[in-house]
Amino acid sequence: MKKVGYIYDDIFLLHETPSGHPESAERLVAINNALRQSDFRDRPVYIKPRKAGLKDILAVHTSLYVDEVIKFTGYCDPDTYISKNSVEAALYAAGAVIEAVEACSTGRIERAFCAVRPPGHHAEADRAMGFCIFNNIAVGARYAKKSGFRKVFIIDFDVHHGNGTQHIFDEDDTVFYFSTHQYPHYPGTGSASEKGKGSGYDFTYNVPMLHGAGDKDFFAAYQDILPGLVKRFDPDIVLVSAGYDLHVNDPLAGLRVTNEGIRNIVRGILSSKQNIPYIFSLEGGYNLASLSGSVLITLEELLYFE
Ligand SMILES: [Zn+2]
Repeated sequence: MKKVGYIYDDIFLLHETPSGHPESAERLVAINNALRQSDFRDRPVYIKPRKAGLKDILAVHTSLYVDEVIKFTGYCDPDTYISKNSVEAALYAAGAVIEAVEACSTGRIERAFCAVRPPGHHAEADRAMGFCIFNNIAVGARYAKKSGFRKVFIIDFDVHHGNGTQHIFDEDDTVFYFSTHQYPHYPGTGSASEKGKGSGYDFTYNVPMLHGAGDKDFFAAYQDILPGLVKRFDPDIVLVSAGYDLHVNDPLAGLRVTNEGIRNIVRGILSSKQNIPYIFSLEGGYNLASLSGSVLITLEELLYFE
């Protein structure tokens, strides 16, 4: 069994979204309830996130944006709502990935799941977008680099393309970005021809999936394509944008990935390289039952898949 951290704090429930908004606090309540009722509830190491420092956030975001968002409340784009405590929650969401990186580098844990909100992968360097305020995975990746990891491989299986993460690392040959997502779909980016820029060219790999794609297509991406890319890049840490809106029951998109498909994706990821840290951070997933079921499958694999 692996030492797996579960990074969570109730601060994430204080990011309030208007009634009927799909990205609600109930998502984390459902996940925590499911975990409490599971057979392996005593297995993870329960860890509180730290609050990301301004320096950590500014390693990814512009100071102009950070100054603006700290003062803002209301809708800052058609989807992204900022309530009184949202920025505080977002600082802890980014800090959760930092805490996970830290706990992995000291050997306290080997793998982690960050149960956070707001999510992060749509947030660009200079703006909030698509329910996301700060780019949690990107902040974690920059922190990992600072704390001695040389090469970071980011995997993003949310149904939506992680435009923010891709753009932040477009020109970086030390951070690889791999994404599977429905395409064409929100946010519009993520075609196979987007491969990075400058010295970061060929360090981005998009696998667009057509509406209706399912387990077989994902099996091909995660068992046939991913391992070769990981092997070639040879990372010393893997960060995963874990969005469960690719599930067949999710209301926001049109892929047909089942529970078994989710399990195979997680196994494909974990078997791509042995003995390096794997840190999953929650992105989307809006059907509460499918979301909590998928997170349990992920935790089970993190714990028991060698
Ligand atoms: Zn999504």
